[in-house]
Amino acid sequence: MIFLGIDIGSRAAKVVALQDNTIIASAICDTGPESVKTAYAAMGKAFEGTGLSLQDVTYTVATGYGRVLVPFASENVSEISCHARGINWYFPSVRTILDMGGQDCKAINCGADGRVTNFIMNDKCAGGTGRFLEMIAEVLNVPLEGIGEVALQSRTAIPFNTICAVFAKSEAITCLRRGVTRSDILAGLNDAIATRCLKLLKRVSIEKGFSITGGIAKNKGMVAKIREKVGLEPLLCPDPQLCGALGAAIFARERYSGKAAKEDLKIHYGYNDGTGDYFITIDTGRCDGCGKCVPVCPAGVFLVASENGSQPKAMVKEELRKRLAFACPGYQHCRSKLVQNCQVVCERAAISHSW
Ligand code: SF4
Ligand code: SF4
Repeated sequence: MIFLGIDIGSRAAKVVALQDNTIIASAICDTGPESVKTAYAAMGKAFEGTGLSLQDVTYTVATGYGRVLVPFASENVSEISCHARGINWYFPSVRTILDMGGQDCKAINCGADGRVTNFIMNDKCAGGTGRFLEMIAEVLNVPLEGIGEVALQSRTAIPFNTICAVFAKSEAITCLRRGVTRSDILAGLNDAIATRCLKLLKRVSIEKGFSITGGIAKNKGMVAKIREKVGLEPLLCPDPQLCGALGAAIFARERYSGKAAKEDLKIHYGYNDGTGDYFITIDTGRCDGCGKCVPVCPAGVFLVASENGSQPKAMVKEELRKRLAFACPGYQHCRSKLVQNCQVVCERAAISHSW
């Protein structure tokens, strides 16, 4: 049986086909203006010369920004879950992932089974994303695929005060005019981006077993800077850009066989600090985003938000995820004091506590 994962990202579309737990076909192509055409083109490229066609595929899962627009996908799963699952296939020891995509960066924690336990996204600014690097490569007149190597030749990285796309571009142009080498400019930008990635990672937990996924993980100069800032050697899979599509193919296999289908929809927010497990779990398959849990919680634990335009769901506020036990006394204790609390008002039984 063949299981297909397709990741329609903002800049590139990726496809992975799995058979007997082996990758038998894969492809990466540019995302066009129409997601439907892009999906067919990417799938066609993956199957080119293999003699396979869509009719041979048993089950397909789509992920990425354009995931809801893939006509031949049976289901769609968030890219956060797919990246965690994809990297877990290569390295089950990974607990912290930095996913550097075309339009956003995400810091993700996952368990030994590849399920997400915490995540945070930076999608408010283009700085440090694939789009940003494309723009800088254009300004410096260096091929995009070569910017990593060029940065590694730097002797004195130029400090950049900003990676705001607009200001960084004008700073780069000013440096070029002053005669600063391209390698020093790129190394300086990589340094600034890596510093920002470190800040993002600190908002989840930086644990041993660290990996970088997404297209930017192919940029050796950037990886070197992130290694230096984070202080951990990242585990890199053969093509980090395919990680989300691989995760989607793994989900396709599991969903087809019915295995763990329900568990995969649960997101666990919290931590274990040696005194116990402090996780609030939200079953996103059940949650309809009604928002009733938000006002009843005296600790202000919840918010309802949408991830990349998908249906809004309840989440635990980012600033509370690493100190949940201080904010929430635990379900039983809270229930003994309050008539109404999060689990009581949730008609869909989407919330549970580990303590
Ligand atoms: S009350 Fe339940 S269903 Fe409604 S937003 Fe909260 S978790 Fe989701
Ligand atoms: S148990 Fe009480 S304090 Fe804890 S999250 Fe639910 S409503 Fe908030």
